[in-house]
Amino acid sequence: MNLILMGLPGAGKGTQAEKIIEKYQIPHISTGDMFRSAIKEGTDLGKKAKSFMDKGELVPDEVTVGIVRERLGKDDCKNGYLLDGFPRTLKQAEALEDLLAELNAPIDYVVHIDVPKEKLLDRLTGRRVCPTCGATYHVIFNPPKVAETCDHDGATLNQREDDQPETVANRIEVNLEQTQPLLDFYHEKGNLVTINGDQDINDVFEDVDKKLQTLR
Ligand SMILES: [Zn+2]
Repeated sequence: MNLILMGLPGAGKGTQAEKIIEKYQIPHISTGDMFRSAIKEGTDLGKKAKSFMDKGELVPDEVTVGIVRERLGKDDCKNGYLLDGFPRTLKQAEALEDLLAELNAPIDYVVHIDVPKEKLLDRLTGRRVCPTCGATYHVIFNPPKVAETCDHDGATLNQREDDQPETVANRIEVNLEQTQPLLDFYHEKGNLVTINGDQDINDVFEDVDKKLQTLR
């Protein structure tokens, strides 16, 4: 099965990815991992990507797509793959279509883990960190015994800059703007499978699994 996994930050994409690759025995191909291994292996494209990253610049699409092509062409992708974090833009999605046609490995489904914006905000702003021992908590999912207080040393917990409501809301908006055209693209192509991500992790996976089984 050839899959793309999509979802906004906080939607629980990582957890679902783990469950999908275990159940369907396909490799998890995340952009980050792909870049890291291309750089480590010192491939031409890896070197190119690194030269942009070292300058703090965005890696151009042609390099990224080339790295995706190399990765999807490897043997472990013969029985399928789970692409995660790519494509990010319509242009990349179109380039991916061409490359998958070339590899004769077209996308079967684009699994979209859908969580309402407000819920994402709750999830992403709930993280707390102990300034003394570094323990992490979440006000909803993993709360300390006493509110805003570390279980281990009684220190008052902090919220990271990245987890402040304004920063998070902005991150969600930027991602939403980027993601929506892709969702429309795959919806029109008939590949999009939308899953309600606003439920227990195991129930989300059950829905993913059921959908993929019936569509197979
Ligand atoms: Zn602590």
